[in-house]
Amino acid sequence: MAERTFIAIKPDGVKRNLIGRIITKFEEKGYKIIGLKMLIPTTEIAEKHYEEHKGKPFYPRLIKYITSGPIVAMVLEGENVIAESRKMMGATKPEEAQPGTIRFEYAITKEYNIIHGSDSPESAEREINIYFKKEELCSDWTTMLEMITNEG
Ligand code: UDP
Ligand code: MG
Repeated sequence: MAERTFIAIKPDGVKRNLIGRIITKFEEKGYKIIGLKMLIPTTEIAEKHYEEHKGKPFYPRLIKYITSGPIVAMVLEGENVIAESRKMMGATKPEEAQPGTIRFEYAITKEYNIIHGSDSPESAEREINIYFKKEELCSDWTTMLEMITNEG
């Protein structure tokens, strides 16, 4: 089933110049990028994003981490993209991530693990709405392009 998910390249991924490499993996897989922006999350945005972790020991550091610099936020669309993009990311702890996954390849610690991805349809919808307005998502551009091409 065609789905949408929210993916973010975290500040350590941006700092280490991994934006292109990570986006390329999703593009090569075949997902469509329908939303893309760079921003430094405010504490308010970070707290909304990670509200499920509020109260956990790592929460304060997680908020500091995600607000520490620019992130690249994106919305991907495609068949089973929620679960499949999580597989591409690999386990939260890089030492448990399978070879070939983004976290296996680029991360060493479970705290600073390069990338975020929604873990369910509910969190995908919630997280997309935190970072993107409806009009910022470009889902139908292929159809629009076909219309223009067919005009002449
Ligand atoms: N995290 C952490 N310590 C932990 C578990 C998680 O610092 O023991 C951070 C890490 O950056 C992780 C994020 O909190 O990616 C969210 O945790 P979650 O369990 O949701 O992992 P994810 O969905 O990112 O794989
Ligand atoms: Mg999570």
